[in-house]
Amino acid sequence: MHGACAGEDPELFFPVGNNAAAREQADEAKAVCYRCPVMEICGQWALEHRIESGVWGALTEDDRRAILRRRGRGTGRGRKARAL
Ligand code: SF4
Repeated sequence: MHGACAGEDPELFFPVGNNAAAREQADEAKAVCYRCPVMEICGQWALEHRIESGVWGALTEDDRRAILRRRGRGTGRGRKARAL
């Protein structure tokens, strides 16, 4: 309701593929997110709910996968460190 994407074409936030046109579309969607008052909450929600497609909180699918991978690696090191 408070998102800057209200009134935007929802398709903008769901680029298909990873070609130049799709990356440009994702950048356009991110530009909307960057002026959104709920950007952080939106991105966190998408991460917590493992949303696989679309741009949420200025994070693409690849961005979210990278964050989750880093968090996973961090958890792994933590577990190992605690076990030692
Ligand atoms: S951060 Fe979320 S709510 Fe805000 S414009 Fe982007 S997709 Fe919409």
